[in-house]
Amino acid sequence: METLKIAEDLLQSHGLRRTQIRLEILQIFMKQDHALSVNDLEKMLKTSHDRVTLYRALNSFEENGILHQAPDQGGGMRYALCADDCSGHDHKDEHAHFICDECNQTFCLQEIKVPDVKISEDYQLNSVSYTMNGVCKECQ
Ligand SMILES: [Zn+2]
Ligand SMILES: [Zn+2]
Ligand SMILES: [Zn+2]
Repeated sequence: METLKIAEDLLQSHGLRRTQIRLEILQIFMKQDHALSVNDLEKMLKTSHDRVTLYRALNSFEENGILHQAPDQGGGMRYALCADDCSGHDHKDEHAHFICDECNQTFCLQEIKVPDVKISEDYQLNSVSYTMNGVCKECQ
């Protein structure tokens, strides 16, 4: 299976041990064009894993530049695959996210970069989110 090979390569190139849950999660992401929440993933996993194992796998992906967080409609968090140039502790995902008003899915707009804004030194910036709302291709 093609996605399995890509998933294995991805783990290897990021120095992560291959475990069944990691391979399963990556393959799920490769088949989707939108971001997924922990709940979505739980429903889609073929074998059942406890939530702690799932969170641990997601954290390791985030720490190693494989997944990044993307916002959802209600202030919650979803995960999406990173672009190839992300690496551990050096994410390059400062792109816009598009949220569909119809299906509520979040899509990465990798090509639209968040503008580099200067803010007052009174504020310490941790993250910037750049979200657009509208109707996705599927729902139009
Ligand atoms: Zn990233
Ligand atoms: Zn939609
Ligand atoms: Zn994204």
